Amino acid sequence: KAGDKDVPIEDVLYFPDDLDATPRHPRIPMPGALFGGRLNSSGMEWGLRRDLDALARDMRAAPNAREVVPLTAKDVDAAMTRAARAAPAWRDTPVATRAAALRRAADLLEENRAALMATLAREAGKTVDDGIAELREAVDFLRFYADEAEALCTPRDLPGPTGEQNRWHARGRGVFVTVAPWNFPLAIFLGQTAAALSVGNAVVAKPAPQTPRIAAQAIALLHKAGVPEDALILAPGGVEVGQALMAHPALAGVAFTGSTATAKAINRDLANRDGAIVPLIAETGGVNAMIVDATALPEQVTRDVVASAFRSAGQRCSACRILYVQEDVADRMLEMIAGAAATLTMGDGMDPATDVGPIIDADALKRLQDHVAKHDVHWQGTAPEGLFLPPTIIELRQDETLKEEVFGPVLHVKRWKAGQIDKVLDEIASTGFGLTFGLHSRIDATIARVTARAPAGNVYVNRNQIGAIVGSQPFGGHGQSGTGPKAGGPLYLTRFVEEVVVSTDT
Ligand code: GLU
Repeated sequence: KAGDKDVPIEDVLYFPDDLDATPRHPRIPMPGALFGGRLNSSGMEWGLRRDLDALARDMRAAPNAREVVPLTAKDVDAAMTRAARAAPAWRDTPVATRAAALRRAADLLEENRAALMATLAREAGKTVDDGIAELREAVDFLRFYADEAEALCTPRDLPGPTGEQNRWHARGRGVFVTVAPWNFPLAIFLGQTAAALSVGNAVVAKPAPQTPRIAAQAIALLHKAGVPEDALILAPGGVEVGQALMAHPALAGVAFTGSTATAKAINRDLANRDGAIVPLIAETGGVNAMIVDATALPEQVTRDVVASAFRSAGQRCSACRILYVQEDVADRMLEMIAGAAATLTMGDGMDPATDVGPIIDADALKRLQDHVAKHDVHWQGTAPEGLFLPPTIIELRQDETLKEEVFGPVLHVKRWKAGQIDKVLDEIASTGFGLTFGLHSRIDATIARVTARAPAGNVYVNRNQIGAIVGSQPFGGHGQSGTGPKAGGPLYLTRFVEEVVVSTDT
């Protein structure tokens, strides 16, 4: 029976011996089937997918978002001081009132979806499909943290032998600075910000320099929903603004999502401050691997690898960067993956027929092109003129390992021999990253062994490895991939509060 280390291939439960019958270039209907998302708690996503053309029409009709002027270092001081003054009143606002404001903001996001998605497409190159998923995630974050904050911020009487009344409560720390990435300029920007606000922190929120407009729209909706303007301040700008924020005496906590290098730089800045020890919650990158063995279903692997590596043009920190495929099935699997990737349509985010949008900017595109130029390209699709990199497959030599995150639609591949799965896992762990991990296998014993050792925070079996769902699949990694706690998880808010115990003689 299948399940042990060196089972002869013909003995496993499912062997794709009908590979010859598989079409050379299977066409998978898109969009929606390949990149389709799941139903979210509000049912909104499903509703939107029913009529993508109508949604795209509304998006095109939406006016351009207003220009956003970056702050100077002097503005940073004024913003932090204003937030610090507003923080005590927001902290003392009943948690139910804060939660109600976040829930109202979630409703407003849904109502304004066409305008928000238009900005996501225009400013961040998001496809309609990605825009829906991002909006859904932002809405979920707002509702999830509203619920979690109500639970966490309810005082508790702790039992014990002291004979006193011991009353524990959690409250906001003061002014939190949130620093968001351009690849989820709405969902992660709002997720971090809503988390900090929900438990009673004032927030100064810094969007990525590439995506300030969607951030400004989101902040305006939060204000409209009842978050006081002084308790939530937008701080657009680049590195200088970031550094001024980290140095400001009013700073009480930082939630950052972006590169590992920047997270470490922030950590150093925080360590060198005088006064309070300021906590950092960092969610960074990954060199995410997927292992495929010879028992995997080829069509399913094809669909899930293409989605994991090429959806959002690979500009997700969860994306699959390296595929370890058992050599017995590698040639045919790669042929199918390339065949499916060749059917992806690249183009403008506003067009619902687009599967893969542009790379965020010229610098990022150049870095990707330089990386590709240094390697043997196994297969590459075609792309239109502009800021596009076609889906690309690079086969690595046996002595090569991928050590750095390559943030685009570039899939690296390595082959492995039966019985070597532990060696593959060691190689993956040796990168020091640990964000997402995928496995395709039909052998229960393999699934159990590999998932027990998988060096990652989010482990996906027989599915794609992107698109974590708030509340169901808390997201975040280990080691070079971040500090935790996981966004959208039960521990996330605990890092945004300070705890107090009042012990009173009775
Ligand atoms: N949470 C996203 C996902 O599961 C990725 C977040 C990121 O790229 O920063 O795909």
